[in-house]
Amino acid sequence: MENLVYPLLSFIPALLNLGIFVYLVLFVPRVKTTDIFCFFVLFLLLWQAEDTIVRLCDTADTALFWVRIFCIGWGGCAPIIFHFACRYTSLKSFYTRFSLVCIYLPFILFYLLYVASSNTNIFTHRSGWNWIVTPRQGTADGLQRLFISAYVIGAVIILFRYAFKMRNQKRKRLQALFIAGGIFIPTVQGIITQIVYPVILHKPDIPITSSFLTLFSVATFLSMRKYNLFNISESVDLMTVLANLKNIVLVVSPNQQIIYINPYGQEILAKERTDGEEFSISSIFASLSYYNAFATEALAPSLDGTRITDYVTVFKTRSGKKIDILLSAELITNNKQVQGLLLVANDVTELSGTLRDLEKSNKELEQFAHVASHDLQEPLRKMTTYLHRLEIEYKDKIDEKAMKYIRIAVNSGNQMRNLIHDILEYSNIAANNENSGSTDMNEVMEKVIKTLALQLEESRAQIVSNRLPVLQKTNATQMQQLLQNLLSNGLKYRSDKKPYIKIYAEDLGEYWRFAVEDNGIGIHPEYREKVFVVFQRLHSKSQYPGTGIGLSICKKIIEQHGGRIWVDSNVEGGCTFFFTVPKYPGREDLHMQ
Ligand code: ADP
Repeated sequence: MENLVYPLLSFIPALLNLGIFVYLVLFVPRVKTTDIFCFFVLFLLLWQAEDTIVRLCDTADTALFWVRIFCIGWGGCAPIIFHFACRYTSLKSFYTRFSLVCIYLPFILFYLLYVASSNTNIFTHRSGWNWIVTPRQGTADGLQRLFISAYVIGAVIILFRYAFKMRNQKRKRLQALFIAGGIFIPTVQGIITQIVYPVILHKPDIPITSSFLTLFSVATFLSMRKYNLFNISESVDLMTVLANLKNIVLVVSPNQQIIYINPYGQEILAKERTDGEEFSISSIFASLSYYNAFATEALAPSLDGTRITDYVTVFKTRSGKKIDILLSAELITNNKQVQGLLLVANDVTELSGTLRDLEKSNKELEQFAHVASHDLQEPLRKMTTYLHRLEIEYKDKIDEKAMKYIRIAVNSGNQMRNLIHDILEYSNIAANNENSGSTDMNEVMEKVIKTLALQLEESRAQIVSNRLPVLQKTNATQMQQLLQNLLSNGLKYRSDKKPYIKIYAEDLGEYWRFAVEDNGIGIHPEYREKVFVVFQRLHSKSQYPGTGIGLSICKKIIEQHGGRIWVDSNVEGGCTFFFTVPKYPGREDLHMQ
C-alpha cells in the first residue's frame, strides 16, 4: 500500500490533466494560445505518466524502456510554456518562424541525445520512488536542465511583466497574475528539487515537479474559463470582416497590380471582372493625372514604409461615374519581404458635395455680411453727422429733454458704427486669406505697442515681451490685429492692480505656442469657450464697452493660419490666452493636438 502513494502522487494529477485536455479539445474555441496550452497539458500528461510508470517498475531496464518513450513530456514542457507565455502576452518577435526554431531546436536535440542513450545508470534507486532519473556525468543532461530552468524563468518574467503592463485593465491583469502565479510556484519548486539538488549539490532529485506543474494547467484553465480573454482577434475570420466592410479594401502588388479587392470594392469598381483576375491600379482612377499624383504622393512613399492617411483622390466606378475618395495606404510585409500595399478607401462623394455646398453658402454669407456692413456705413455716417449738427446748431432752440434724446441717439449711432466696423473686419479676414510672407513677430509687437501707446500710458501698464519668433507664410496685418486685440483686452479687462501683460512664445517642435498673460479680472472657466463666439460678451456695455467680436476675429485669424486658440486662468488671477501657429505651414495635421 505504501508503495502506491508515490505512483498516485503523479497518477492523480495525470487524471486531472486528462480531464482538462479532453475539455479543451471538445469545448474551448480554437485559437493559437489555447492550442499551445493544449499541447502543454498533453506533454505534462506524458511526463506524469512516465513518473507513474517508473515508480511501478521492478527493474531499471523496464524503467528505462518507459522513460525513453515518455521523456518527450518533461523535455517538451519548458519550451511550450515559454512559447505559450510569448503568445499569450503578444510578444510577436518571439513567435516568428525563426524564433520558434530557436526555442524548440535545442530541446529536440536534447531529446534525441537522451533517447539514443541506452544507459541504465541514469537511475538511482530509492525506496518508494523506485527509480529516480539523475543527470549522468559527462552528458548533456545537466545542460538540458539548465536550459529548462532558463526557459521557465523567462516565461515567469514575461507573464509577470505583462500583468504589470495590464495594471489598469482589471480582468486582464487578474488573468495574467493567475497564470503567472500558476507557473511561478512549480518553477521555484522544480529549480530547487530537480536542478539545484542533482546538478549543483549532486544529490538525487525529488521528482515531484510534474505533479506541481498541474498548478499551472489548473490555474491557466480556470482563468481561461473565468476571464475568457484569450486573444479574441484570433477567433474573428479576416475574410468575413473584409466581406462585410463598407469600405473599399485593395491589396496592390509592388508592380502595381491589384491582387485583392474585397466584395464591396468589387461591387463599386470592378464588378464585370472575374474573381481573382489581376488588374492595374491605374485603371481605377478617374484620370491619368489622378493616378500620377497618387503614384508620386502616396504609392511611392508608402512602398518606402511611410504610412499614408487621409489622401484625397478620385476613382472611376464600373459605370464610369467619378467618386471622391479618401484613402490610407500601408505596406504589408511578411518575414521582412514586401508583399504589397494595403489600401483602404472610402467613398466621400456625398460628404465632399455637402462640404462644397457649405463652403459656397459660407462664402455667400461672408459676402453678404461684408456688403451689408459696408453699405450700412454711409447712411449711418449721415445719420450721426446730422444728429451731431442738430445738437450743435439747435442747442439754444430745443429744450434739455430733446437734447438728451439726441445725445442718446448719437451714442447709439457711435456704437453701431463700431459694430459695423468690427463686422467688416471680421468678414475681411476670410477675404484676405493670403498667408504668404514671413512675419517677424517682434516687429509686429513694436507696431502694436505704438498703436496702443495712448491706452498704455493712461493705464500705466507694463508690457513685457520675450524674443518672439519669425513666422513663415503668415499674414502680418492679421498677426498685428490678433496681438492688438489680445493686448487691448488685457488693458480693458484690468483689475484694480496696475496692468501687467507678458507675451512669450515656446518652441513645441512642429509649432510655436504663443501666450499673452495678464493680471486682469480673469475669465470664469465656464465661459472659456463662449468668449470666442461672435457677439458673446460677459459684461454689459456700461461696465466695459465693446462689441463681442474681438476674440472671434482672433480665432478666425488663427484658424486661417492652421492653429488653435484657447484661454486659461492664471493661479495669481487674470488669464492667459494661448495660440499656436504651425512652423511649417501646410503640414497642420502634424501639429493639431
Ligand atoms: P469685447 O471685448 O468687445 O467685448 P471680445 O470678443 O474681445 O469682445 O471679448 C469677449 C469677452 O471676453 C469680453 O466681453 C470679456 O468679457 C471677455 N474677455 C476678453 N478678454 C479678456 C481678458 N483679457 N480678461 C478678462 N476677460 C476678457
